[in-house]
Formats: sequence, structure tokens, C-alpha cells
Amino acid sequence: MPNLKLIDTHAHLDSADYNEDRAVVIARAFSEAIGVITVGVDLDSSEAALKLAQRRRFIWAGVGVHPHEARTFNAHVEKRLREFAADSKVVAIGEIGLDYYRDLSPRSMQRDAFIEQIKLANELDLPVIIHNRESTKDMLAILRKHRPKRGVIHSFLGDIDLAREFMELGLYLGIGGPLTFKKNDILRDVLSQIPLDRILLETDSPYLTPVPYRGKRNEPAYVRLVANEVARIKEISVEDVATTTEHARQLFHI
Ligand SMILES: [Zn+2]
Repeated sequence: MPNLKLIDTHAHLDSADYNEDRAVVIARAFSEAIGVITVGVDLDSSEAALKLAQRRRFIWAGVGVHPHEARTFNAHVEKRLREFAADSKVVAIGEIGLDYYRDLSPRSMQRDAFIEQIKLANELDLPVIIHNRESTKDMLAILRKHRPKRGVIHSFLGDIDLAREFMELGLYLGIGGPLTFKKNDILRDVLSQIPLDRILLETDSPYLTPVPYRGKRNEPAYVRLVANEVARIKEISVEDVATTTEHARQLFHI
């Protein structure tokens, strides 16, 4: 495997936001030795993520159905996800989870799709990439009952107690652009208290763009801005922060 400095463990490179210049965006990440895990949100985007990963050495894919799209999840979709996951470039089941903030799919469907995909990940011995928004109570109940073998809470949001609950379940915490947002003192405080070896860096590109590019389109190369902010808050060097790359490799087996 190449010498990657950082891995953006959560991006949506198949997004239409990159249709004009996707190759340039990818090249910018590679030129900085930044690898990317690009994650699907439904069947089509999962297939697109896999295709992107198959064509590039430094890109890997997550396949799954996002809670927003949970109403589309069925046995056929699960069968296709299983077929995608047979490819060695698929390193996770995700993005999966619960979102009671936007409620774009009925909550019961969200829960069912989430549980089925945790089971799929466990059966395939893959980690899960989890989305959780205003659904923490049900999230914890499902995680305790269905225990993913390994995984990450993407774009962790919450206090130190919640961070500890997720860590006790063996999960990593994904940290991205929101760490740089002015209002986010809680996240900075949590980060200062949790060990570096439970953290993964991510961007959620094209969303959640870090300062100073907030308001513009995000891209995987900006994961270095997240790394810089982690270093500043934890009062360590950026090289130390780059040890999270090794944890990402262990989690995703890349
Ligand atoms: Zn995402």
C-alpha cells in the first residue's frame, strides 16, 4: 500500500457537486497523499462509489442505504449490497443509521434498514459507518442489542458522556469540519478529552466544509484542515494526528 499521510474516512465523491471536476478534486487529494473512503447513500450511489474505488488505488468504498433513503431498502437492495461487498475495494457498510432531525423516511423503516445492515456488516465481517442525528436514544438501544463488530460514528456530535458510550461499544468517533466551526466549543471540549486512538478524520465532502472555506464546497484535501485543528486543540503535532491514519487502516483493513 502507498504511503498515505491522511485518510478522509467519509466523503461522497459520487455527488453531482463534483460532476464538473471530479478528477481534479481527486488529484488534489492524491497530490497531498490523502486517501479517501467514499460512501454510498443508496443503491445507485453505492455502485458509483464502488466504481470510483475500483479505478483508483487510494480510494475505497462504503456501500449502504442512508436513513434518509431507508424507504428504498428491501431484500433486492440488500442482495445488491452483498454483491458489491464481494469486491475487495468495499471496506465498510455505510452510510447507515438514523436521522430523526429530517425524518425523510419513516422512523420504523429507518430502524429496520439500520438493523438489517448491521447484521449484513457483521456477517461479512465489515465495519459500519454510522449516521446519527437527533436519534441517540434509539441509536444506543439498537447498538447495544445488535452490536456491530466494529465501526465509526460519523461526524460525532454530542457531549463527553455520549462519546464514552460510543467508545464503550468499541466504536470510533469521526471528526470533521464542524470541529472548526466557531460555535462548536462542546465538540472541541470533547475532543480534548478523548484519546487520539479513538478518532478518525473525515470531511463528509461535499458538505460540512471546514473554516476558512465554510460556505463553499468541501473536498477530501481539506481533511488536512481538520488534522491541523485536532493538533491545535490537543496540543500535539500534525504528525501525531497522522497516526489516526493507522487506525483507519486497521478499522477498514486497508
Ligand atoms: Zn455522509
